[in-house]
Amino acid sequence: MTENPFFRPSTLDYELPPFAEIREEHYLPAYERGMAEQLAEIAAITADRGLPTFENTLVALERSGELLRRVDVVFRNQSSSDTTDLLDEVEAKVSPLLAVHHDAIHLDRALFARIEELYRTRAGLGLDPESLRLLERRYTAFERSGARLGEAEQARLRGLNAELAALGTTFQQNVNAANRAAALVLDSAAELAGLSEDAIAGAAENARVLGHEGKYVLSLQNTSGQPALAQLADRSVRERLLAASLGRGIEDNGPIAIRMAALRAERAELLGHPSHAAYVVADETAGTVEAVSALLARLVGPAVANARREAAELARVAAADGVGEIAAHDWAYYSEKVRQESFQVDAALLRPYFELERVLRDGVFFAANLAYGLSFTERPDLTAHHPDARVFEVFEEDGTALGLFIGDFHARASKRGGAWMDSLVEQSELTGRRPVVLNNLNIPRPAPGEPVLMSWDEVRTLFHEFGHALHGLFSRVRYPLFSGTAVPRDFVEFPSQVNEMWMVRPEVLANYARHHGTGEVLPPELVERITAAEGFGQGFRTVEYLAATLLDWAWHTVPRGEEITDAEEFEARALAAAGIAVEAVPPRYRTAYFQHVFASGYSAAYYAYIWSEVLDADSVQWFEGNGLPVRESGEVFRRELLSRGFSRNPLESFRAVVGRAPETGPLLARRGLL
Ligand SMILES: [Zn+2]
Repeated sequence: MTENPFFRPSTLDYELPPFAEIREEHYLPAYERGMAEQLAEIAAITADRGLPTFENTLVALERSGELLRRVDVVFRNQSSSDTTDLLDEVEAKVSPLLAVHHDAIHLDRALFARIEELYRTRAGLGLDPESLRLLERRYTAFERSGARLGEAEQARLRGLNAELAALGTTFQQNVNAANRAAALVLDSAAELAGLSEDAIAGAAENARVLGHEGKYVLSLQNTSGQPALAQLADRSVRERLLAASLGRGIEDNGPIAIRMAALRAERAELLGHPSHAAYVVADETAGTVEAVSALLARLVGPAVANARREAAELARVAAADGVGEIAAHDWAYYSEKVRQESFQVDAALLRPYFELERVLRDGVFFAANLAYGLSFTERPDLTAHHPDARVFEVFEEDGTALGLFIGDFHARASKRGGAWMDSLVEQSELTGRRPVVLNNLNIPRPAPGEPVLMSWDEVRTLFHEFGHALHGLFSRVRYPLFSGTAVPRDFVEFPSQVNEMWMVRPEVLANYARHHGTGEVLPPELVERITAAEGFGQGFRTVEYLAATLLDWAWHTVPRGEEITDAEEFEARALAAAGIAVEAVPPRYRTAYFQHVFASGYSAAYYAYIWSEVLDADSVQWFEGNGLPVRESGEVFRRELLSRGFSRNPLESFRAVVGRAPETGPLLARRGLL
């Protein structure tokens, strides 16, 4: 057997992981050795008999865990974007081990004593601002992880963390299985009336792949809403599709959600907070539960009123079909009709203008060139994690190599839903590494030989995820802890949302939105109508988002000891109590498939998207109104914000760009909530 490729640093350009050599059986041994190595490194730090110094403690800690980091970034991407049964098993084994490992470090009394001693004397250590911040952030992280607790409490904390980690993995795997099981199988093409020929062919191909030869399968996306709902003409098929979506996973994941909420409440209490939400936001830019609740409460009333106005408009159009009241499964369908009737926008007619390769090169990359001077060269000689994934080398305006960008754009059965960004190699001046970042999307594959045509939303997602990628690529920090996107969750969506603005900037749009067959530019008047139609959907979008946010909030503001017996009942009560229960607008995620909050680190933090959007809307206004050329604005945004990572307070970075604290006005205007 050849040596495990994780055991040594990669010798490839940018230390790109050696994907061609990595096999499934390498992960577990690499994890085990990686954790053992890091514990040995920690033991070496605490064995030092001399006085603790910044160098022998904090810097040593930053340098520790190299092997673990190498395997972990690769594994997390692989198990998300191309999983197998074996990888699922490895994940189920590893996630509780990682929780134990995290605790072994953060509850190490000798290590904490050194950090505490340095923290106490920090004013006299002569540290530069980023080093001082490293010390403060590490101190806070240890404290928040229970370093100050007594033996019995720490033992209980270890138990809670291990159980939560295992439950989170089970929750995610249940979501994946439930998504597959709930796919809608249809017998005839007639039932798919309304879908494009391509989409019907896609459903037939999907059926063949999934073992339903001769039938048609609509697979589920992870959100409550499903794209096909906007086109399916048969009301009963729409009803079945949405019911399959809303009902998935509750038997298995309802009890897990209840258990996780209880464990998180208990852990929060142990750590001195009244609820899990209070514990989480204390370390976010929001700071307090009250601050988050106040923003959400301010948005609910106007958003619901907005959605009700939209419902009345939908009902007017639906009356022609004999539909009396708009149900949840009618919303997208009649929204599409309103868009066509009132705004003359037909989603199907847009797709030919959004061909993936053009959107990527002449849109996303072009905008990055316009604002930041970047250029991109594909590197087919470098192997990524999947044959679909493509590697690009990114260059500065002056030709300096900046890092690698990997794009894995297509949906496949082995990939989880949604779109996300990962860092495979973190930029750090301490380690001398340059960034390798990765975007995963779920754009359906067309029939063989056909171009990849995207929806408006998919184009937006591509710009969005690339915004995260830029945040990683532009990182210019000393310590890995602060690198790139390692900022609070309620800040991290801000740079990615800002990047969405390029999608509709006239000079960018005109460059990429061209008909794939004729080369014709997307007519400007159509763009205006799309923008107007976007405004129409804001009521729905804001309510479905806020409902999910308030659901997350309800699960994680429960105080310890409050008994929840039925997840669906809890959900219904929570939405009603928050004033966001609009029957025809289900939450974007229901409890059973809300993987953000039960499986991926966004518990009590789903509010982060709208919180970040305050900064986003405000910054977009700054970009548009500051009077600087685009390239100069980009440079300011990069220098003061994108490059800083978490090496300084993010709100300070915001102020350095915009010149003042964030204001909510632009967000309210954008969402039609004034
Ligand atoms: Zn994002």
